[in-house]
Amino acid sequence: MKKKKDNKNKILKFEELSWKKIDELDRDKTIFFLPISPMEEHGPHLPVGTDMLIVTDSVKEAIKTIGKKKPDYNCVLMPTIPIGFCKFNTDFPGSISVSGKTVRDVVYSMGSALGEHGFKYFVVCTYHMALGHLRGIYSAMGKLESKYNMKTVEPWSPYFYNNMVQEREPKLGFDTTKEVHAGFRETSVMKYQYPYLVDESYKKLQSIYRDLSSPRVLGKKFKDLGIKEGYVGSPARADADYGRWFFSETVNMFVSATLDMISGKKTGELPKKIKAAMKAAFWQ
Ligand SMILES: [Zn+2]
Repeated sequence: MKKKKDNKNKILKFEELSWKKIDELDRDKTIFFLPISPMEEHGPHLPVGTDMLIVTDSVKEAIKTIGKKKPDYNCVLMPTIPIGFCKFNTDFPGSISVSGKTVRDVVYSMGSALGEHGFKYFVVCTYHMALGHLRGIYSAMGKLESKYNMKTVEPWSPYFYNNMVQEREPKLGFDTTKEVHAGFRETSVMKYQYPYLVDESYKKLQSIYRDLSSPRVLGKKFKDLGIKEGYVGSPARADADYGRWFFSETVNMFVSATLDMISGKKTGELPKKIKAAMKAAFWQ
């Protein structure tokens, strides 16, 4: 019987490798994945690590699939960085916000440490869609591409901001575009992935809707906007089946964006409007 090569179907964890093992990796056939999402309040019913837990799990699943589709590539999972910009809800304990500049510096430092040694492929994975956070990530990716000629991609925000979730999700009979934070979608994913971390009180939470993309909310914190419990949407509707769909959709997006990147195809782009808003926002 043919012996399987031992690194196939196994996730290479960056922190478990020696510099020697890292040096042995083929520069043209190694993809590094960096999950990054802040600790942030997610309503009274979800843990502050919601984004971080989901993003880390999605990357792990994506790596397994990529390993099967591209067995000649190595996928290296870097440790999850638990930071991001989320100043707007730091009026709740548990939200830890760093500046967009800090996000940029951290992502750039992680990537340049690879670029300096000739590695090419860098996938930044986040679930946190705040523009101040994304600005840091995109600025770092731009610098990595120009300085080291690296190929980088951040799969989720182009999908999210091009309204692909609404287009592709199973029809539910209510307007899911208002599910902004710790609402139906995130509560559903957590019910699917981490049911024991979802507080049963979610069933009694009333729906609360706020348009957080309006310029009028700029610089305001959640409590100023009447978001008293820290969620925006309807967590009480949460459904683990939808959570399963949403989770696998994320995994598929991570897989397809990575495959597009390594095959030199154009990867998803943020809509112009969002790019402009991201650039216009001050570095905070
Ligand atoms: Zn979240």
